[in-house]
Amino acid sequence: MSGEVYLVTKNEGKLKEVKDIFVPFSISVRSVYEVCDIGEVEEKGESYAHNALIKARAGFVNTGKISLGEDSGLEVDYLRGAPGIYSARFGGENASSGDKISLLLELLQGVPQEERTARFVCVVALVWEEGEEIFRGVCEGYIAEEPRGSGGFGYDPVFVFPPEGKTFAELGSEFKNRHSHRFKAFRQCAEFLVREVFH
Ligand code: IMP
Repeated sequence: MSGEVYLVTKNEGKLKEVKDIFVPFSISVRSVYEVCDIGEVEEKGESYAHNALIKARAGFVNTGKISLGEDSGLEVDYLRGAPGIYSARFGGENASSGDKISLLLELLQGVPQEERTARFVCVVALVWEEGEEIFRGVCEGYIAEEPRGSGGFGYDPVFVFPPEGKTFAELGSEFKNRHSHRFKAFRQCAEFLVREVFH
């Protein structure tokens, strides 16, 4: 491995995706919580970038290690971009992924496919001793009429990737890790790390 970075997340689904994305770059990824309990980092920002920076700065300040923060969300056009940065809390703090999906499908009931367009957005913040950088990835799709597939996490069972006509949950993690919003943002980050940080 050419380097090691620390992701500020407790979400195992995200950690696994990021580890897999970084493998071809010979960069190993660990959760910052494996080395230091930095407590709950509150997402008080008003944008994905702000939230991602809050997390990455908390990681760096507490550990001195190269830290990555990530914020992501689902933007549904018919809902004027909601749930967006509030995707994790859609339906309340204690809502499960199933509850969130049910609420989303309820709000889109009877809405035709061409008006169900949506996108996943992912913003990554990198903080290290020499500075801060932001990377952004977007994946366009639409919301299915009902959940399909068992892979992935969060809204994956209802997010259809149009070139395949299947949900991310049906397509599986290997496929998702080559096409997702997270892949696009973290790949740019990995390329930057190789070029500017681990040389
Ligand atoms: P946060 O980035 O921890 O604030 O969480 C963003 C929320 O957006 C997640 O909890 C999911 O509900 C949703 N989300 C973000 N990326 C994905 C994805 O790749 N698949 C499914 N849901 C996602």
